[in-house]
Amino acid sequence: MAEYLRPSSLEEAAGMIAAHGSTLAIVAGGTSAMRFAVPYVAYAMGVRGLGMNEIERSSGGLSLGAGVTMRQIRDSLPIPALQDAARGVGGPALQNMATIGGNIFAHPPNGDVATVLLAMDATVTFFTTNGERTQKLEEFYDSGAQADGLLTRIDCAAPGGELVFLKCGRQRFNSRTVISVAACIGLDNGKVGNACIAVGGAGAHPMRCAAAEQALIGRALDDAAITAAGDEAARASSPGTDAVASEWYRRRMVATYLCRALRQIAAG
Ligand SMILES: Cc1cc2nc3c(=O)[nH]c(=O)nc-3n(C[C@H](O)[C@H](O)[C@H](O)COP(=O)(O)OP(=O)(O)OC[C@H]3O[C@@H](n4cnc5c(N)ncnc54)[C@H](O)[C@@H]3O)c2cc1C
Repeated sequence: MAEYLRPSSLEEAAGMIAAHGSTLAIVAGGTSAMRFAVPYVAYAMGVRGLGMNEIERSSGGLSLGAGVTMRQIRDSLPIPALQDAARGVGGPALQNMATIGGNIFAHPPNGDVATVLLAMDATVTFFTTNGERTQKLEEFYDSGAQADGLLTRIDCAAPGGELVFLKCGRQRFNSRTVISVAACIGLDNGKVGNACIAVGGAGAHPMRCAAAEQALIGRALDDAAITAAGDEAARASSPGTDAVASEWYRRRMVATYLCRALRQIAAG
């Protein structure tokens, strides 16, 4: 059984991560780690005692502690797409425990809130024994999602357009994720000026879909452009098969749900 460690400061936590490496699992809410990580390591490091649960708002955007829970997001954030994503993570009891930091590392196909954060072009900040390191969430995922420290904060600017999140599940409430999509579209004189598209559940972690974004930029948000973006997103996906859905079904749902989200934005 794993030895339980309780650091009392960020410095101590970073030191434990550096000392124990891959033999240590970080436990925030524990809703994923207790199943997928803790049974396989020598040390489990609980981080709830470190706080990290503050939400700071400014005119430029949001700064969210890694320990902010789904319930906090659901009940008190002014961004409906983030609230929608948090509301769909398990049921109310799970939402009291599950954190935004844990969602960024969630076992696929999970990561609904992280999918919205990607479409918001969020940054993540890690505390390491060498100090703080901040990078774009997209770059963090692109480089293999290997944390060398403790995730402390997620920052995002106000969405640069209309932001929509949709989750495909097999039932309406408390449903496991098949795939999820988030799209943030800024229109300029009837044409797409900027597009941020992210898909969850279609790979090892949520991902930005550059090809889908390029299929939209400079075009009217009409049926042809929307279908092209959906096709590109499906092509870029590499989902897995599990008890909930097959790889084939997930790929189809990526296109279907992205088109649905974009039509919702086009309809205003
Ligand atoms: C019944 C059930 C239903 C679920 N439904 C959904 C769903 O619909 N959508 C969805 O997205 N998820 C779902 N999940 C998965 C999970 O609950 C969420 O992804 C949740 O946000 C994980 O947060 P946590 O705080 O519990 O993470 P934990 O389980 O504590 O940690 C998960 C991983 O994150 C890493 N981690 C956590 N915090 C930090 C940190 N500060 N720094 C560095 N690494 C860290 C650790 O490596 C750890 O292994 C479900 C889980 C269950 C059990």
